[in-house]
Amino acid sequence: MYDLIIIGAGPAGVSAAIYAARQKLHILILSKDLGGQVAKKAVDIENYPGFEKISGPDLVDLYKKQLQTNELEVILEEVVGIQKPGNTFLVTAKSGKTYESVSVIVTSGAKSKLINVPGEEEFAGKGVSYCSLCDGPIFKNKMIAVVGGGNNGFESALFLSNYVKHVTILEYGERPNADAENQELVAKNANIEVITNAQVLRIEGRVFVDAIYYQDRVSGGEKKLDVNGVFVEIGYSPATAFLGDLVELNEKQEIIFDPKTLATKTPGLFSAGDCNVSKYKQIVMASGQGAVAALSAYEYIKKVKK
Ligand SMILES: Cc1cc2nc3c(=O)[nH]c(=O)nc-3n(C[C@H](O)[C@H](O)[C@H](O)COP(=O)(O)OP(=O)(O)OC[C@H]3O[C@@H](n4cnc5c(N)ncnc54)[C@H](O)[C@@H]3O)c2cc1C
Repeated sequence: MYDLIIIGAGPAGVSAAIYAARQKLHILILSKDLGGQVAKKAVDIENYPGFEKISGPDLVDLYKKQLQTNELEVILEEVVGIQKPGNTFLVTAKSGKTYESVSVIVTSGAKSKLINVPGEEEFAGKGVSYCSLCDGPIFKNKMIAVVGGGNNGFESALFLSNYVKHVTILEYGERPNADAENQELVAKNANIEVITNAQVLRIEGRVFVDAIYYQDRVSGGEKKLDVNGVFVEIGYSPATAFLGDLVELNEKQEIIFDPKTLATKTPGLFSAGDCNVSKYKQIVMASGQGAVAALSAYEYIKKVKK
């Protein structure tokens, strides 16, 4: 029986584990992989304090070392279910094995939704990006397309317009879904153009992105935009399906939590990072939340074990 099981080993999970280890708890980390989205990052990270520039894999190596220094037990397995039949949690892994704990922190993260067109995977990190806050400054004075006319897309375009030469937002529907306020800001911005009824067909380039092709859904004609970067901003898929009714989810399937403690609706179950409702999905936010969740879990465990 563990004091604490942490599900996920991205920035939120690793930070939660480091903080929980300092409280001398008996901890297990169950995760599909080590590093989460950071491990898959193709472009250097330039917005994490202490590191002017660090690659995703290098940061994950440092995570690994810090988990080892803190003698943390990590099992690389997917969690498929979690229950709380009494006072403790039963966490079931894909292998069928069940682990018991007093408290659980869910840091299972999220994945950016893909547009699934030719060139998207090939040029990921070579002009195709899923995070304007992370990669925007790299595209100084460049021509950019943002795919998605919701708030994500509009806010990305507004942010990018501070750096790039021009942004074209490509929206599949007849009109954008972004809030009126974002639409007003974009309408006033001479550097941003919105094209609706645009179905993205493919992304092309040599080494880096050169162009994006889309079909005009009204005329049926194929159009080309010469761009150096494509930001895909059509939302996230949080990894929360395995939690069943132990948590309350919003319409995007993100976990709703108490902002002070990161507690979910089930006592003893906390959540941190991109799997929850936080608006900004960044390493520094996920790490901060991991620390809060660990300290809250410690308070809970202390009370329960008294
Ligand atoms: C391409 C890209 C570039 C980015 N660049 C930056 C950047 O430069 N700066 C920045 O601050 N942020 C950046 N981000 C965002 C940042 O990576 C995320 O905000 C951060 O990784 C979120 O951390 P997390 O721990 O909440 O989730 P994640 O990193 O998503 O980690 C989730 C963890 O949970 C595990 N998991 C999921 N489901 C299960 C399950 N059922 N069972 C067990 N384990 C599970 C996963 O394997 C993973 O280990 C970028 C994101 C992307 C996609």
